Amino acid sequence: MASITVTTADGAQRRAETGTPVIDILKGAGGYNRQVLAAKVDGRIVDLSTQLSDDCSLAPVSVDSSEGLDVLRHSTAHLMAQAVKRLFPDVQVTIGPTIADGFYYDFKRDQPFTPEDLGKIEEVMREIIAANYPVRREEIPRAAAIDLFRSMGEHYKVEILEGIAEDVVSLYRQGEFVDLCRGPHVPSTGSIKAFKLTSIAGAYWRGDEHNEMLQRIYGTAWPSPKELDAYLKRIEEAKQRDHRRLGPALDLFSLHPIAPGSPFFHPKGTVVYNILVQYIRSLYGRYGYTEVITPLIFKTELWQTSGHYEAFRDDMFLMKVEEEEYGVKPMNCPGHCYLFATRKHSYRDLPVRYADFSRLHRFERSGTLAGLTRVRSMVQDDAHIYCTPAQLDSELDHFIAMTREVYGVFGFERIEVTLQTRPEKFLGRIELWDAAEAALRRVLEQAGYPVTVLPGEGAFYGPKIGFDFRDVLERSWTLATVQIDCAMPERFGLKYVTPEGTEAVPVMLHRAVLGSLERFIAILIEHTAGKLPLWLAPVQVRVLTLTERQDRYGREVTDAVRQAGFRAELDNRNEKLGLKIREAQLEKVPYMLVVGDKEAESGKVAPRSRSGETAEPSPLGAFIERLKQEAVPGKFF
Ligand SMILES: [Zn+2]
Ligand SMILES: [Zn+2]
Repeated sequence: MASITVTTADGAQRRAETGTPVIDILKGAGGYNRQVLAAKVDGRIVDLSTQLSDDCSLAPVSVDSSEGLDVLRHSTAHLMAQAVKRLFPDVQVTIGPTIADGFYYDFKRDQPFTPEDLGKIEEVMREIIAANYPVRREEIPRAAAIDLFRSMGEHYKVEILEGIAEDVVSLYRQGEFVDLCRGPHVPSTGSIKAFKLTSIAGAYWRGDEHNEMLQRIYGTAWPSPKELDAYLKRIEEAKQRDHRRLGPALDLFSLHPIAPGSPFFHPKGTVVYNILVQYIRSLYGRYGYTEVITPLIFKTELWQTSGHYEAFRDDMFLMKVEEEEYGVKPMNCPGHCYLFATRKHSYRDLPVRYADFSRLHRFERSGTLAGLTRVRSMVQDDAHIYCTPAQLDSELDHFIAMTREVYGVFGFERIEVTLQTRPEKFLGRIELWDAAEAALRRVLEQAGYPVTVLPGEGAFYGPKIGFDFRDVLERSWTLATVQIDCAMPERFGLKYVTPEGTEAVPVMLHRAVLGSLERFIAILIEHTAGKLPLWLAPVQVRVLTLTERQDRYGREVTDAVRQAGFRAELDNRNEKLGLKIREAQLEKVPYMLVVGDKEAESGKVAPRSRSGETAEPSPLGAFIERLKQEAVPGKFF
């Protein structure tokens, strides 16, 4: 019998008979345990039952790897579909992919699923797990698969099959259930240890609103019940912290149908917003940025030059004025390039760093809008840098230094850096791209950041680095980004005069540290659960009187705190102190100052923090000194 050579993860080479299943080789190599759900053959993920026919490399895929989780979750989608078919035989199945942290499956059923149905489906899923059916792959001609699914009344599967080019397709069977699928899958239904069905939603077939409405059931699956519980707790915590709930509850902002995706910032939200802008502005002097103000509405000629008209037009608000087409700017860069080109530049003027807090508008589709994280109207702490090629590395270093400083101030400690490289469709010359990517790698390496490369994920005009911050709920957010532009300077004909007196094209960088302020505020609200640090809190101090007798003293205290430059409010309502404290805590006011007769007589205040810590009454002056020390960027309590 013919034999093959298999190289296992430890580098050892093994001879095996052609047709040996991967699980046998893994077991022989000591690379198998019950955590192993699938295997990688020459980098491709396959079932454990796959029979090897050629020389190859082989590695186990464990359930706690991202690939293993994917296999587990997709297998749980099949499990759910099997249970749904057992309970509701009239249902037609469609597709069941994995998503972040879970999976869904879309079903065609005339009657809507109810939350009670989810419990019943889970029960049947547990029965199927207990039966531990082997999950078997089978390959058959496409025409035979069409006949099979047609005979089962699964018209969506028939439609999918009719759109597939391959002559042979794969099916997966477990017990009485069969699904059309590329795989891979867990070896048996008993491999699924912990799952939960989480919600029901409507979804159009193939995501097209002209098609019929299906019912989507979402679920999640984890290697163990412990990890499932931790995840469900995180979801519950995320609900509590959801900025779409907390923002309006804290009177920071609201959204209304009169302007979809365009938030109204209330007085308190505007305080937070303006302080963020002031803070970034306060760094600009030190980091050598100059602020500019550029138009909101341009003739579309501008975006024809920049290339956005072609690539981005569908996401812009366009209008006709005096027979000419105009557009509201979705980004500042083309305006900044136009501004740069209005005067001559010498190498001595570079780098030029234009910062702009201008409002931007992007036409995000109604269905995709979400709170402050996906909006149509936003402001970025945006800037564009024009420099010589020789200045590129130091400009990137400069940006990294500012990012470090800002992240330090917000206490963002867990940072992951990504490098996004040239996509398939790109503008500009390939030499520029290669040089730009090399520069980004070089400075990141020097800065000591481990880097995850995301091949092909750069913008169409240049490669990009992103500083992803991981929040308390383990969610990753890209905030600071810098991109080297390989296209726009040439398209706008930008030039500077070199020391030799010749003309050269400057290097252009796009960069932001907070990103969109709207999104940043949403992240900050969720990360802090609304307990903004003292320097950002819209109301920093609330003075609470015990009775009407302290009315006058309460006013004096509030005034004194305001005179010292802090945001203070007086609560002198004729209510019980307990209620006043509770309300201030709900509003996440950092400090309450309780004033009764004793305090009024002695000129003192009794501070109380929003987390309930109280301190001995102290002179008002001493408390104000303490505020001055604490209410600075970077301090938390
Ligand atoms: Zn599948
Ligand atoms: Zn830009």
